[in-house]
Amino acid sequence: MLLGNWQRFKPINLESRFITPIRLQNNRKIVYLNAKIRIIADWADVIVAGGGPTGVAAAVSAARGGKKVRLFELQGALGGVWTSGLLTYIFDFNKSEIGWEIIHRLDALGARKLDKTDTYDLQRNWVYEPEYMKFVCEEMCREAGVKVILQCPVVAAYRDSSNRRIETIITESKSGRQAWRAETFIDCTGDGDLAALAGCGFDYGYPGLSYGQPATMNALVAVDDGDAIEEYLSNEPAMWTRVKLPDGTETCHHIYSSHKLKALLQAQGLDPSYGDPTLFRFHKNVFCFMANHEYQLRVDDAEAISDATMRAHREIITLAGALEKLGGPWKGFRVIGSAEQIGHRDARRIHGQCTVTRDDIENGTTFEDVCTISRTCVDIHGLDKKMNDSKAAGNSGGVKSQPFQIPIRCCIARDVDNLYMAGRNISGDFYAHASYRITGSSVALGEAVGKAAAGIFKPVTIVAEA
Ligand SMILES: Cc1cc2nc3c(=O)[nH]c(=O)nc-3n(C[C@H](O)[C@H](O)[C@H](O)COP(=O)(O)OP(=O)(O)OC[C@H]3O[C@@H](n4cnc5c(N)ncnc54)[C@H](O)[C@@H]3O)c2cc1C
Repeated sequence: MLLGNWQRFKPINLESRFITPIRLQNNRKIVYLNAKIRIIADWADVIVAGGGPTGVAAAVSAARGGKKVRLFELQGALGGVWTSGLLTYIFDFNKSEIGWEIIHRLDALGARKLDKTDTYDLQRNWVYEPEYMKFVCEEMCREAGVKVILQCPVVAAYRDSSNRRIETIITESKSGRQAWRAETFIDCTGDGDLAALAGCGFDYGYPGLSYGQPATMNALVAVDDGDAIEEYLSNEPAMWTRVKLPDGTETCHHIYSSHKLKALLQAQGLDPSYGDPTLFRFHKNVFCFMANHEYQLRVDDAEAISDATMRAHREIITLAGALEKLGGPWKGFRVIGSAEQIGHRDARRIHGQCTVTRDDIENGTTFEDVCTISRTCVDIHGLDKKMNDSKAAGNSGGVKSQPFQIPIRCCIARDVDNLYMAGRNISGDFYAHASYRITGSSVALGEAVGKAAAGIFKPVTIVAEA
């Protein structure tokens, strides 16, 4: 039945429908000559750019709300940082309907790694198997009737003559350059590509600097006997259980085990670029290896991202090679694969109708149109190697964190009328972003925006139980 609906909207004579792209910038028309592009137009109510955690939640919510939804994803799979980025560890997740649904679907597949202690909040923080997460994302979109196009980045956006609405976006794929239209657009690219292409204003990075949080290349690694390296695993027995150190002080298990791993690498003459090199176990002998940090990158600098990506590949192979050489418990320690894309923590923070700020965090500002609550502390990773060496992650920037509300107006673009943002590219300052930039909040924001696009958004109270 859904297929029938989609076919109804397919343009009949594609060849006769072309546009000559015009970009309106500051009321100046820039016409791209000799660039006729085929329009596949007028057959989606909602276009979602980016199929990461946020984009999947947004697309599924809008589709379930009765909208015809098309989703464009740059990579060859859905899931973003969960899958193409090989993240594997998740926190502050149990707070949206779609979040709970993902938890239940992963559990049905046996793909969520439960912790060995019952003090660990299994619903709020956990480890998952990336390939199963990919399957879950793709099944949810398929079942909701979302039309997904993979390996198809959004590369341009044009406004209509009012200069207040996005009329057309351009994608590039193996089908060539294509133009698409919809009533409503949602930017879930993480980086804020669609909004930036549409000429929306944004902020970037740490106050006074042109860059922000470091990026990380994750990898999958395997070893002959996973149990033999248990003392180096951040999530066993549990990330945040307290460990007493020989000098009488305490730390959490994650820091204890990652610093043990760091010391082992340093004894081989290696100094990992991430000061808390981490192994997350998500299957018997298989782990996520998060040991790399790339500093001072921007999401809009393709050349620097490419250099960083290849530098990161080199570092991962070097670090893993040193561990494998140790033999003993490290026998057979090999890199199985690295992420398709380096993971960006930072983002363009697109200007919205409201901006959530450090003041809102510290004062616990309440909003009538709250769409989720961020319960994670302000987590600033060391902005350069020196800062990272003294405290790699979890820096608060002096902000006294408490759970804070995010109003849906932070997800509605200020500069155009038919564009929502969701995920790490919403409107917030550097400090608020350093808290809400995690996937639990991203899914909740995507869900809220998808509902808003379908006209069924209601301010939320946090769903605490299944
Ligand atoms: C190394 C690292 C560690 C992290 N640790 C944690 C953690 O432990 N727990 C946690 O919950 N969160 C963590 N995060 C945060 C997490 O990355 C973000 O919450 C998440 O990326 C937000 O989801 P998103 O969908 O907004 O963005 P993304 O996951 O980045 O998804 C964006 C999607 O859009 C696609 N895309 C980009 N540009 C375009 C375009 N022009 N056209 C079409 N598609 C496009 C991308 O390919 C991607 O699939 C971490 C991030 C990194 C990088």
